[in-house]
Amino acid sequence: DIVEQEDAPEDLVTRPPIITVLGHVDHGKTTLVDTLRKSNVKVVEGEAGGITQHIAAYQVEYNDHKLTFVDTPGHAAFSEMRSRGANVTDMVVLVVAADDGVMPQTAESISHVKASGVPMVVALNKIDLPDINEQKVLQELASQNVLPSEWGGETEVVRVSALKEMGLDNLLETLLLTAELHELKANPNRPAVGACLEGFRDEGRGSVAWLIVQKGTLRIGDAVICGKSYGYIRAMYDDMDQQIEEAPPSMPVKVTGLDSVPGAGDHFVVVETIDQARELAEERRHEGRADTLSRHSG
Ligand code: GDP
Repeated sequence: DIVEQEDAPEDLVTRPPIITVLGHVDHGKTTLVDTLRKSNVKVVEGEAGGITQHIAAYQVEYNDHKLTFVDTPGHAAFSEMRSRGANVTDMVVLVVAADDGVMPQTAESISHVKASGVPMVVALNKIDLPDINEQKVLQELASQNVLPSEWGGETEVVRVSALKEMGLDNLLETLLLTAELHELKANPNRPAVGACLEGFRDEGRGSVAWLIVQKGTLRIGDAVICGKSYGYIRAMYDDMDQQIEEAPPSMPVKVTGLDSVPGAGDHFVVVETIDQARELAEERRHEGRADTLSRHSG
């Protein structure tokens, strides 16, 4: 299979953090992810397909820094991708509704995040509601071993209202500070590698995949192997559905040109020739069949 080259430290440059939003149902994950996106696309709205199309991830720009948000709310996406070896998430925003506090899926998310070692920022959401007992929620977090920084702990708790658009600048600032602390870097000058966030079949365009670049730069015409799919990158679109030519580290892109639909968590790698990509894909498809056969017979 593919042996990956190590990057020299001097080739590494800072890249945007890739952020996943987790939390209990109805605590405001979707609202937060939508609000952050909407507040950022005002300037370009109308130019492309608008913001209604389905996206798997998008980028927000704040104070000249970019942040990438994966728009697949739910810990299933986070833990499933990790269990498949696709560790794309650099940071987690844990949404906790201030009126509801720590609930079962909050606790579950916390344990997934702790197991992964990924840094976490708490967004204490719905602070626009009356009669909120913030201290009670902080206490509940502390009893999950998430000690707020205001209590001497390591976790930043940012008060927000995703609905009323309160505290969002503060949240983005905290996320950027956290990213800076963890020195997220990648070499943009190498063949791209990354992961598939999701794939689907399109009537006109064939198999379409949302990829996120982790290292290197992905370009139109690149020969790619992605899980058991392969092909040349035929067209590439950004989160505004604008056609683009290349994608640097941490950028999510929608691509066409793969021969089949890859799955969430599949790795992708740019290889030198399409023959290499085809051979690898065939090998993997064969291995897959062998696995299935041995499971059935054994
Ligand atoms: P999800 O299940 O975590 O994705 O939660 P949603 O984003 O779907 O939100 C659940 C409900 O909470 C919806 O009715 C939202 O309008 C509401 N909601 C989300 N954020 C806020 C907020 O900041 N304040 C208030 N008052 N309601 C909110």
